[in-house]
Amino acid sequence: MHEPTSASHAVEALFSVEGTTAAPRQPALLGGRCTACGYTFFPMQGHGCEQCGSIDLVPQALTGRGRVISYAEVERHPDPLLPPPFTVVAFMTEDGVAVKALADPSSEALLRTGATVVTTLVTDAGADHDAPRLRVLVADDDLATEGR
Ligand SMILES: [Zn+2]
Repeated sequence: MHEPTSASHAVEALFSVEGTTAAPRQPALLGGRCTACGYTFFPMQGHGCEQCGSIDLVPQALTGRGRVISYAEVERHPDPLLPPPFTVVAFMTEDGVAVKALADPSSEALLRTGATVVTTLVTDAGADHDAPRLRVLVADDDLATEGR
């Protein structure tokens, strides 16, 4: 069984507060890259490349910006630390890696397929730990072009 503190450590290992050169203001996603074939993936793992089977995998920070593939509102969830409703967003990062993350509630009504989303860190009030959590927001520049 997972204790809440170990769950938060697992989440922390998925992103860094620092962004990438391509998206410096958005927390980077900590993925990996296969040095044999160049395949990029998320999250980092050491079991072997999904594409060629090589175990020569290195950490690769992925940009925290991408486009929405799909999204779904979750009405029921068994984890008491993640009470519904919340929205899961699948998005394709600019590095070409599909990632799933939770939408920030402020952006849920703005989500649509193809929208530009960016990563952000939030600290949930009342949570039993104050580790930052990764969420995605619809990007401001996407809203600016969409509103005209
Ligand atoms: Zn490979």
